[in-house]
Amino acid sequence: MPKIPVLFTFDMDAETLWTARDPEGHRKPVWLSQGHYGPTVGLPRILGLLDRYGIPATFFIPGRVVENYPAQIEQILAAGLPIEHHSYSHTWSDSLGAEEEEREFQQGWDAILAATGRKPQGWRSPAGELTAHSIPLMEKFGLGFSSNMFDADTAYLLRDGERATQIVELPFAWALDDAPFFMYSNRLPGRVMAAPSVAVETWCREYDGLAAEPGTHFMIAMHPQVTGRPSRLWALEQTIKHILGTGTAEFLTCADYVARVRPSLTQGTP
Ligand SMILES: [Zn+2]
Repeated sequence: MPKIPVLFTFDMDAETLWTARDPEGHRKPVWLSQGHYGPTVGLPRILGLLDRYGIPATFFIPGRVVENYPAQIEQILAAGLPIEHHSYSHTWSDSLGAEEEEREFQQGWDAILAATGRKPQGWRSPAGELTAHSIPLMEKFGLGFSSNMFDADTAYLLRDGERATQIVELPFAWALDDAPFFMYSNRLPGRVMAAPSVAVETWCREYDGLAAEPGTHFMIAMHPQVTGRPSRLWALEQTIKHILGTGTAEFLTCADYVARVRPSLTQGTP
């Protein structure tokens, strides 16, 4: 019985998550401090948890955060974990023109390459959306995978409209993201915090359901500033224990999974 690929991903947005939501955010120290917590407090806890269980993960990090947090980037690299492309400033790309979006791709690419010596292999949009330029830019920068879509539980080759591409899409889902459960601010309308047990139940039931269907993968998207809090780290640890207890999982980085699954993918919709 083939193992179920389990892909843990962390979008380490730091302050850029908040500046993206408020152009005046850089003037607001409390607003920004919510993001600062991620690399400085949340990240060491997350790395410690992953290390205790011997679990790999993939980090998607905006170039500006890579530049601003060199010590934390070193911690991630020392743990042997890859850093993938997540724009430069985390400005929501659906508000950018073609040239601005390309500049974001270039600057983010440059920052990761300079800090890690490794070319990023994948891209996750900072906006939770693709523009008309995003897929051609992924191709231009030689990015082999995308993790953006919500239309499948299996990897597939991305299409740009009618055009086939060689970019492997690794879809995820809001149900498998920590933000809908836990991301809260008194200035974000409509947000409520779920109990950590709600995420545990959702993620464990999602895992069990997906594990029963061959060809699926289980990916969670998290943020160190959200999951780095002790109660949310508990939720992640309970999920890890459940998955390990099934004996059906194999934990992988996105890049390693893409290398494995690519030869079996055929062009087209999932
Ligand atoms: Zn992000």
